[in-house]
Amino acid sequence: MSQTGAPATSLQDIIGHAKEYGFVFPSSEIYDGLQAVYDYGQNGVELKNNLKAAWWKAMTQLHDNIVGIDAAIFMHPLTWKASGHVDGFNDPMIDNKDSKKRYRADQLLEGKAETLAEAGKVEESKTLLAEMGRLLGAEDLEAVRELIISENIVCPVSGTANWTEVRQFNLMFSTQVGSVAEDSSLIYLRPETAQGIFVNFLNVQKSGRMKIPFGIAQIGKAFRNEIVARQFTFRMREFEQMEMQFFVRPGTEMEWYEEWKKQRLAFHKAIGLPAESLQYHDHEKLAHYANAAVDIEYKFPFGFREIEGIHSRTDFDLRNHQELSKKKQQYFDPEIDPDTEKPYGNYIPFVVETSVGADRLFLAAFCNAFTRETGEKERTYLKLHPAIAPIKAAVLPLVKKDGLADIALGIANSLKSTFRTVYDDGGAIGKRYTRQDLIGTPFCIAVDYETKDDNCVTIRHRDTMGQERVPISELKERIGHEVSMERILEAI
Ligand code: ATP
Repeated sequence: MSQTGAPATSLQDIIGHAKEYGFVFPSSEIYDGLQAVYDYGQNGVELKNNLKAAWWKAMTQLHDNIVGIDAAIFMHPLTWKASGHVDGFNDPMIDNKDSKKRYRADQLLEGKAETLAEAGKVEESKTLLAEMGRLLGAEDLEAVRELIISENIVCPVSGTANWTEVRQFNLMFSTQVGSVAEDSSLIYLRPETAQGIFVNFLNVQKSGRMKIPFGIAQIGKAFRNEIVARQFTFRMREFEQMEMQFFVRPGTEMEWYEEWKKQRLAFHKAIGLPAESLQYHDHEKLAHYANAAVDIEYKFPFGFREIEGIHSRTDFDLRNHQELSKKKQQYFDPEIDPDTEKPYGNYIPFVVETSVGADRLFLAAFCNAFTRETGEKERTYLKLHPAIAPIKAAVLPLVKKDGLADIALGIANSLKSTFRTVYDDGGAIGKRYTRQDLIGTPFCIAVDYETKDDNCVTIRHRDTMGQERVPISELKERIGHEVSMERILEAI
């Protein structure tokens, strides 16, 4: 978000703009919506698809040793036993008896720690977080409740500390498969895409003759019954993940972990997120499967929050799948170990995972692009990287008559097969520029009377509003280069 002299951008501004200009709508809005579920509109889907394409190409096109898959959402229920989700994918919840509102106990305490840190009480804040980590680790939920009370944390709605006990709540959605009730069995909507990759590890390795180190990438829907789902597309109950599992020789995982940390930060910068709005955040409390974990955080209007997690997952998942399925999940490494002068031989690979939410990345890109300028000339526009903008160019005849519309239509048609181009002849040209600014179109091409004589058009640049005269014959190349995915991939 940037603005010149304008009030700070709030999440409400972002939500309003996203809805008004066809990016994101509340799900089933005519029935008053469904909490934490959203639909992408005509411009939103283009922006999201472009982000997904950038990620997919950054993974599978820039790396010879990374391939993609598309696994099903439904998986054998034992998958989630092996992964630890049936027993451990819980959030601690607590209700306020007066307001009847439900909260995540850890988030109440984290909020308090944030307030303490902001007031300069950094040590107190750290102690509180450490204590919370210890109690949650020990599953001492009664003590978590006592901590909330002793820290004087009150419900923001009722203002009271009249809390219920803390209970664990499993975030997985379940449903039944099978048409006959007695034969049906309980299955889950996947809470992460990663397990679809793990169970296909050997299929891909064998059919693709992959040699370690290698990666498998996937983009797909995931579902979590989040206790508190606020903050727009930041926390949804149905969302999309872009995950890559990188299989490595045990003992080399920390090198790869560092490498992927760097590469993923470079990706976020390459799509246009500024360095000062991004930071690493090491995990205080590691998940049950990890031996190192870091988040990449983006500075949203509500503070720095996770957009991507990078985890060194050891051999936890493959080992558990091997145990439960009774199918060996091993790889034979023929390379010679210099210490023993023998092949490394059979082992279960270790895994470094990169996991980014497509919807959170969308929100970060959208917030970053939202720009309001005040002063002499007020203007709102989306400063999106040209390669991810929903529409790359709009062709605008100055007037419809005297053959200008035909020339403009001809230009739009000639560009369409190379990049997304629209034609617009409705209303004053200034209004048409504004319409394109609001959805982030980087280039407007104006056709005027002179075009008839010199075969040139005016390109108007979204961010600077600068104008330049360009021969029609050069448009494809000039704009094509600016809006191509290559520009993102080359910057990583
Ligand atoms: P959080 O702590 O915010 O709940 P998490 O640590 O549980 O996130 P991971 O399990 O590491 O998240 O998931 C990887 C990525 O998936 C996250 O970085 C985020 O971008 C995305 N993600 C996770 N949960 C959601 C959600 N409810 N809505 C949208 N995106 C999500």
